Amino acid sequence: MRAQAGRSSVTGPAPGTRTARCARPESLPDEDSAASRPRLTATANAAAAQAILDTVVSEGRSDRTKRDRPLLQFHPMVSFHYRTRYVGDRLLVQLPDLMADGPPQVVADLLAVALADHYRRKEPADRWSRYLAYRHRREVVARAQLLYLARNRQVRTEVRGSTYDLGELFDGLNALYFRGELPRPALAWTARPSRGTLGFYLEDFDVVVLSPVLDGPTVPRYAIESILYHELLHKAMPHTLGLHTERHHPPEFRAAERRFLLHEPAKAWTDAFWRTTAAPAAEAAARGRGRRR
Ligand SMILES: [Zn+2]
Repeated sequence: MRAQAGRSSVTGPAPGTRTARCARPESLPDEDSAASRPRLTATANAAAAQAILDTVVSEGRSDRTKRDRPLLQFHPMVSFHYRTRYVGDRLLVQLPDLMADGPPQVVADLLAVALADHYRRKEPADRWSRYLAYRHRREVVARAQLLYLARNRQVRTEVRGSTYDLGELFDGLNALYFRGELPRPALAWTARPSRGTLGFYLEDFDVVVLSPVLDGPTVPRYAIESILYHELLHKAMPHTLGLHTERHHPPEFRAAERRFLLHEPAKAWTDAFWRTTAAPAAEAAARGRGRRR
């Protein structure tokens, strides 16, 4: 039951490397945090999609798939993940509800990928790439963004913090470093202050999220700006997004990062923040987990 992750980036200070960290966000606020989780409702689309699933199964060569007689559900997810599990002797395939009115061919592609994944067969690459192309269409990202922001309790969408206004910071950075041409992503704060992850960008939803630990009078403006700038660079350089962390910060990304006017002071601030705040907090949390065992 592996879910397919989207392309994303995470920034936070890392021990040892003393550089901003970007990794696949394993614990991001995404699925299972739906704020107003609507009940699953049957739609005309669901019946049509089940017919598509039946076709995908009948065209497949696996007897096991046919024996499992898969059922389809559209599930209110805050991600593009799919899930499979057995209900009795039938295999339940759950797709994100934002695919409920997707084009039949794309729904078929995603179902074929989900089944291949479930039975540990090789994923049909052309189906996966067609599905991804659909998912990255502007109107699909816009709809996914609305759902993400509406359902996710772990982000706050009011851009104005107590000290910093994310919209204002974005406008300044866009004018100075992107010639005012970078389309504005959704900007949000995490609901809880995260010390280990200061910011991340989720391409599937075109959203930049920063930790509110950056929203205070003791945080210099250049420090929060540099972290927002880093995440905006990922949006501007989509080839730096992916599941392979080594691709997140190629040399051209680091070169662009150094164009930030106060890059060195900002890096020094992040390193110091890590040493004095994030690392001790992480150690305390680890000690706490140890005691509970
Ligand atoms: Zn990064």
